Amino acid sequence: PAVAKKPGKTRNFVQKMKQTDKTVIFFYGSQTGTAEDYASRLAKEGSQMYGLKTMTADLEEYNMNLLDTLPEDHLAFFVLATYGEGEPTDNAVEFWEHLVTGEDLPEFSTDDYQDPERPLSNLHFVMFGLGNKTYEHYNSVCRKVDEKLSNLGATRIGERGEGDDDGSLEEDFLSWKDNMWKAVCDFVGIDFSAVGSLSGPRQATYKVVEYTPEEAKQLAKIFYGEHYENKAVGSRPTYDAKNPYSAPISVSRELFAASADRHCLHMEIDIAGSGITYQTGDHIAIWPVNAEDQVLKLASIMNLSAKLDAVVTVSNTDPASTKLPFPVPTTYRTILRNYLDITAPPSRAFIGQLAPFAPNETSSQALAKLGEDKEAFRLQVADTRRSVATVLEKLLGHDQIIEIPFDLLIESVPRLQARYYSISSSPKAHPTSIHLTAVVLDYQPATAPEETVYGLATNYLHVCHAHLNNNALGASLPVYDISGPQGALLTADGHVKVPMHVRHSNFKLPRNSAVPVVMVGPGTGVAPFRGFIQDRAQDAKSGKKTGATVLFFGCRREDEDYLYKDEWDGLMAQLGEGSRVITALSRQPGVPKTYVQHCMTEHKELVWDLIHAQGGYFYVCGDAKNMAREVNHRLVEIAMECGGLTEDKATNYVKDLRSKGRYEEDVWS
Ligand code: FAD
Ligand code: NAP
Repeated sequence: PAVAKKPGKTRNFVQKMKQTDKTVIFFYGSQTGTAEDYASRLAKEGSQMYGLKTMTADLEEYNMNLLDTLPEDHLAFFVLATYGEGEPTDNAVEFWEHLVTGEDLPEFSTDDYQDPERPLSNLHFVMFGLGNKTYEHYNSVCRKVDEKLSNLGATRIGERGEGDDDGSLEEDFLSWKDNMWKAVCDFVGIDFSAVGSLSGPRQATYKVVEYTPEEAKQLAKIFYGEHYENKAVGSRPTYDAKNPYSAPISVSRELFAASADRHCLHMEIDIAGSGITYQTGDHIAIWPVNAEDQVLKLASIMNLSAKLDAVVTVSNTDPASTKLPFPVPTTYRTILRNYLDITAPPSRAFIGQLAPFAPNETSSQALAKLGEDKEAFRLQVADTRRSVATVLEKLLGHDQIIEIPFDLLIESVPRLQARYYSISSSPKAHPTSIHLTAVVLDYQPATAPEETVYGLATNYLHVCHAHLNNNALGASLPVYDISGPQGALLTADGHVKVPMHVRHSNFKLPRNSAVPVVMVGPGTGVAPFRGFIQDRAQDAKSGKKTGATVLFFGCRREDEDYLYKDEWDGLMAQLGEGSRVITALSRQPGVPKTYVQHCMTEHKELVWDLIHAQGGYFYVCGDAKNMAREVNHRLVEIAMECGGLTEDKATNYVKDLRSKGRYEEDVWS
């Protein structure tokens, strides 16, 4: 099949808009693909419903110094996720540094303005942020960019929208959109009340074309799960999110006692010879695949089972768009297994869009209703965390088929994303292997306690673990194809390889190993601290002075889930005076329920001495939602009780520790 010729790459978005006849641009700052997905949905809606000439744009691909040159009647949308501790996403860092964190007034294309303080007076923009209220800096990226653009003279159209991933991001987005479009229609001079007439039949974003088997044989390359082709041939490739490295798992051990009904995996990922390096405190990203039962179930519902291995190519229907969600040519099976996140709950909008393709009137109405009814959707899909295949199976019944256009699936289902794990080793102790510590996730959702939801990546890793240790897993557990196409993910000696890359973090030990550290890490939150402690033990071995190293660890029972119990004494013995692990047991028979923060109170003089008198660093890792907040609160109390500070002063004291980089968090929800 012929693939449309793409316009050449330029970093000048204004020029590109001119060349491709666009007037509204949707910039996205996206880490896991959600902001990108929202930007695409908005661009499509703008075009289909309101007749706008739209294009999406990855912030890192364009020269944002040209914002001042966007014509006054054009519009720029910013769809920006806040990541980690109030940080921009990787692809927005350059823009962020240019606009927000720079000390001087940001430079734009010229310095010849009517009002030099307001270089963006021409710019009109719309703002939506994606954040998570669990974290202190909720949506701070979109808020700060919004403020900065306004201070520089730009005018925001409509209210700023903010979505909360801890609540209902999708619903926040949907309820913001309507008023926003009204404001945009006012700005561009469209009668909002008459827009219904503009919305015609669905416009496809992608075109999917199948190759015949003969055509497929002629292809130089077919993608079977690779992200993009290795960029450098001859020289050493860079491994990152766009090009993960398939690394052998050299060791995999179960860390919980055999009696526990939970599993925690300790894995050692072999990076020898890859050129990959890491630092203590970094994260390893693991790229999972979807479980086979989900792939086959969805294929069957979509009537694709017979041609799962057909080779297809995908192209953009709009020649101005150059981005595809995954590399092509590839196969239907690869798309369902490796590229699309088919097990995450689908969006309400997507379910509503499926109604016209339903096999009969009853199921069509049921889909349309579920697409409209927020509460039913929350109960049956979002909170119950059902996959698109499970939702359809429940609505249509077994043996029914819904021929969803494959391009609609590609457009509506986000890309499969990597999961991050805090690296639990130090490169000083393990230069050629990266250790990770992962709890295998499964749970019964409160809205459907008879169902079990299996975490994607951790169950994938569990299957890899079982393969490596010749274990059989229960028949009811998800099954994954871990061998890859033609066994590409198996080593000659039977080890499994997992696609991975390293993401560098700011979660770092003080440079001077003599500075004391206090670490709080219950459960898998202990992971990076194993790395920290190994690091300092290596420093001690090489003759460096190491300060007191105190770890507050928490688990349920000493004989069940005490992670790395046999390692701590040996490591601590090598470190500065007073180094120790203080353990909180929450479900130990005969012992009162204790959490790490209770132990901090019990040892408050020690904590205060190390942090305040000795200028130590304080670290927290693990659950963001409750534990990290409660630990912060506990430190404030300690500053009041041991330092004699008022509540305000103690709060500011702890804030000050954070701003000086002496209170660091590596937390997730
Ligand atoms: P998924 O298929 O992604 O499902 C997880 C989702 O299920 C959650 O996002 C949540 O929405 C939902 N969920 C989970 N439990 C419930 C419940 N009880 N009820 C309803 N919904 C629920 N994990 C570790 O084990 N070790 C680590 O060292 C570690 N480090 C991390 C570091 C960072 C920076 C981050 C961001 C995360 C870290 N995680 C760690 C978590 C890890 O990335 C994954 O989120 C986790 O392993 C689950 O992935 P999964 O693919 O198995 O589950
Ligand atoms: P865990 O075994 O659930 O918990 C470790 C210890 O922390 C247990 O003793 C637990 O006590 C205790 N604890 C519970 N609530 C606490 C609180 N508010 N403050 C201090 N301690 C508390 O830990 P894990 O399985 O390693 O998971 C760590 C955290 O990461 C979990 O809380 C979970 O939210 C999060 N997590 C998320 C995902 C995900 O899918 N995104 C995956 C893995 C972990 P109890 O006896 O009371 O349980």
